[in-house]
Amino acid sequence: MSATGTLGEFGLIERYFTRRGRPAASARPEGSSRVALGVGDDCALLAPAPGMQLAISTDMLVEGRHFLSTVDPARLGHKALAVNLSDLAACGARPVAFTLALALPSVEEGWLAGFSRGLFALADAHSCELVGGDTTRGPLNISITVFGELPAGSALLRSGARAGDDLWASGTLGDARLALEAFRGTLVLPSALFEMARARMEQPTPRVALGQALRGIASAAVDVSDGLLGDLRHILEASRVGARVDADAAIELIAANAHPAGGEARLDMETLRRCALSGGDDYELLFTAPPDLRQAVEQAGRASATPVARIGRIEAEPGVRVVDRAGAPVAQRFTSFDHFG
Ligand code: ADP
Ligand code: MG
Repeated sequence: MSATGTLGEFGLIERYFTRRGRPAASARPEGSSRVALGVGDDCALLAPAPGMQLAISTDMLVEGRHFLSTVDPARLGHKALAVNLSDLAACGARPVAFTLALALPSVEEGWLAGFSRGLFALADAHSCELVGGDTTRGPLNISITVFGELPAGSALLRSGARAGDDLWASGTLGDARLALEAFRGTLVLPSALFEMARARMEQPTPRVALGQALRGIASAAVDVSDGLLGDLRHILEASRVGARVDADAAIELIAANAHPAGGEARLDMETLRRCALSGGDDYELLFTAPPDLRQAVEQAGRASATPVARIGRIEAEPGVRVVDRAGAPVAQRFTSFDHFG
């Protein structure tokens, strides 16, 4: 299809989404490129190495639903790829390549320049090559498919959690939700705190190195896109187990809490719990591992420069029990974000 405009569909692809003169991927320290053919033909060609599996995931971002129309295009380019890389991370895969399907209401070169800059900055940081896509006119919609690789049989799945395993989370939780509530006007944040939370919402960090470091250590993993409790449920259902979650430990992972302006904001316990437990848009890893592998998990965190924290444990009894530090039940009526709920 044609996205008309002064530039035209192919001019647009050529200018913003085709790159030449980049160093050969095989010269990069991360390992040889698996991309045999990139943008420009009817298909891209990937050449998986012997003994490796391809990990594939797609995520779509729709204006008004997943991002605000006012968002900085460079941040949007980053986020569109970041949410996809986060899925690779949750499987423990190394990013290889991605495709980009883009619907644009019109050709705005300033927007395209910013979007592609943010997109490629993150792609380059992970040696993940744009190998194809589709471009058409329509309501703003960004759909990316990522391809990663990992040794056959080593993918982290949702189904491997066992009663007695520890429950771990990476990085920070709840800050994106704080920013969303501030945008909606249901919460007032001091400006320094708001900017920090907003950056977490608009430029999430996919935990790609941690995911790979957890291969052979984590028994199950998922990335947190719809909120901790909601995504935890995916592990519990796939693994046929239950869990106990320490709400106080989860709240400690809200970066805004540790921020100098955090005290000034005086966030109440209800808000903190809602953000940490069912915030959404965190793109952290939630994973399980046997207690005798605690040191190995901590070592994986150090090796990938990613904080990891224990926030609960897996139990045989189905369902989720949210407790405070002393083990007392916490009244909990939060659910995960559901686009059709
Ligand atoms: P086809 O008609 O075969 O679907 P297109 O004319 O849509 O091919 O695209 C031409 C080439 O440009 C293809 O290699 C396609 O993968 C690539 N391409 C199209 N849109 C994008 C995009 N947004 N980003 C990267 N590559 C793109
Ligand atoms: Mg096409």
